[in-house]
Amino acid sequence: MELVDKHIIHMDQDAFFVSVEILKDSSLAGKPVIIGGMSDRGVVASCSYEARKFGIHSAMPSRMARQLCPHAVFVKGSMEDYSKKSNEITQLLQEKVPVIEKASIDEHYIDMTGMDKFFGCMKFAQELRKSVLNEIGLPISFGLSINKTVSKMVTNECKPNGEKEVAKLNVQPFLNPLSIKKIPGLGNATFIKLSEMGVRKIHTLTQIPHDLMFKILGQNGLSLWQKANGIDNSPVIPYREQKSIGKQTTFDSDSMDISGMKIILTDMITKLAFELRQKQRLTACITVTIRYANFETVTQQAKIPYTSLDTVLILKAKELFDKLYSKRMLLRLVGVKLSHLVCGYEQVGLYGPSEKIYNLYQSMDKMRSRYGVDAIKLATVLPSKLRH
Ligand SMILES: [Mg+2]
Repeated sequence: MELVDKHIIHMDQDAFFVSVEILKDSSLAGKPVIIGGMSDRGVVASCSYEARKFGIHSAMPSRMARQLCPHAVFVKGSMEDYSKKSNEITQLLQEKVPVIEKASIDEHYIDMTGMDKFFGCMKFAQELRKSVLNEIGLPISFGLSINKTVSKMVTNECKPNGEKEVAKLNVQPFLNPLSIKKIPGLGNATFIKLSEMGVRKIHTLTQIPHDLMFKILGQNGLSLWQKANGIDNSPVIPYREQKSIGKQTTFDSDSMDISGMKIILTDMITKLAFELRQKQRLTACITVTIRYANFETVTQQAKIPYTSLDTVLILKAKELFDKLYSKRMLLRLVGVKLSHLVCGYEQVGLYGPSEKIYNLYQSMDKMRSRYGVDAIKLATVLPSKLRH
């Protein structure tokens, strides 16, 4: 089978959180702005390009950021505002393109394959970029190339306020001189391992036989080798087809123990939220389902600001449950589903008012991945006889 050349656009907002804040307060423009961590114990969720020049980056303790740049402006940040703008951008793009994937709160992939016969892809992408700039008012960059990985790397090279096309013949010349650090998905440990072998540039990585990469780094090694060689067959997954995660519990005997059910709901969400953070995902939609003893099934759904935190999700789920449970009838099942998933993690820093809470989540998650998801529970989830 002959492979069709693909045309994939990767669009990425520039310093998204900061740009939304500038839209609200233009006096922030051009300043080193830090989002999150207002208190000394906080963490940086995001920062402006001006702040990055001082070595500040997300997940850095605010105390350190303040030392690096004492005149930086700290802004509390609002996931609600960012989610709202994010949805506006998705909607605007969705109206104009055939296949679009929302990859994170501020990133989209667009598959233009097939359309290229009717439009020049570059011209089309430029017009999309202009419309986000003019209609939403937020700066955006894009890369256009043959697959998702290369397009994303092109965007990363031309941000901020950039646009660039790398055609098929130019892919390898574009990739070769870049540091292997620029390959999406190449973590710090892998970088150190490869550096010690003398592999620092992508070109050097392409020279390694792929079975040797497999021997050294397993499946991940193979995938990195492919990316270094400009190979990525992953499809652009339309927004509406993106997966959700969920759980449900059927009771041994039909029950009317409402507080018991809320504990089960809390427990399910704790596990799902952990799964989200493990996969570095955020959700923007929560659905609660209950089934009465007579099999009547009812569902409530709510759009929420992007999150992966149990506390936020549990509160909303209980609210939905209370709305749902209107008949004084026995229940046989309760379920919860998280959908509209996108990539993201550092936003945790926006919710946790302190570095302590941020670190608490990180160490709880470490315990869970080592000892299993049940290793740590909120006190409210423990069976009552275990509570004092
Ligand atoms: Mg971005």
